Amino acid sequence: MPEYEVLALKYAWRPARRASLFIGGDPHDADAIMDYYIWVVRAEEKLYLIDTGFNQDMAAKRGRTLLRSPVAALGLVGVDALAVREIVITHFHNDHVGGFDSFPNARFHIQDDEMAFATGRHMRHERFARPYEPDHVGGLVRLVYENKVVFHDGDEEIAPGLSLHRIGGHTMGLQAVRVHTRRGWLVLASDASHYYEHFETGRGFPLVYHVGELIAGYAKLLQLASSAQHVVPGHDPLVLHRYPPVSEALRGIAARLDAEPINA
Ligand SMILES: [Zn+2]
Repeated sequence: MPEYEVLALKYAWRPARRASLFIGGDPHDADAIMDYYIWVVRAEEKLYLIDTGFNQDMAAKRGRTLLRSPVAALGLVGVDALAVREIVITHFHNDHVGGFDSFPNARFHIQDDEMAFATGRHMRHERFARPYEPDHVGGLVRLVYENKVVFHDGDEEIAPGLSLHRIGGHTMGLQAVRVHTRRGWLVLASDASHYYEHFETGRGFPLVYHVGELIAGYAKLLQLASSAQHVVPGHDPLVLHRYPPVSEALRGIAARLDAEPINA
């Protein structure tokens, strides 16, 4: 079984209030930060990109601070966008799929339910449609016609030691990624848990399709991972504090998730 190297790369951030991060708010409202990541999973000649982030157009439109484009972030760890052939899209929200057209040689692994959700009846409603961009969704539909989309339904292994798991909740087809590493089974939760606090305390992020699936998803994440310390949330600044940097120069930018946490 391969032991993959797994990297978290931060490409953008925005300020937030804690009350906006939890269903029902938070009694200790205070300033918070939402970080935006993409993830790299690699072993020898194999390379998988998990999500594609967004570019300056989305940052400007939605008031985020782009620190570096996802392609530039990948360049910092020696990954050439043109060499990326396998991409997992955890869900189609703009911050996860916005950079899809930067990878012309890739095929995209998605869940059936996410395509159905993003192109179906629920998108008539602003509360569900807001994080999606019709141009991104349309672009993915175009890729279907170019036979560059691999559809998955539920739990599927896409390579030895690398599998996809539909969690749902946040969106209808949200999928998490389970990876075999030298320290055991790591789970990239993406937005199945935006922050550590969500799965640790059983609270939900307010932007949600199905609250029951969201909360049930935390148990599934924990079941898939070797321990709670092997679950990596999708937007938490703590990720870059809990894991060692790829190099001193990349502190605060790129972390090694297959290494033992240093501040857990
Ligand atoms: Zn997100």
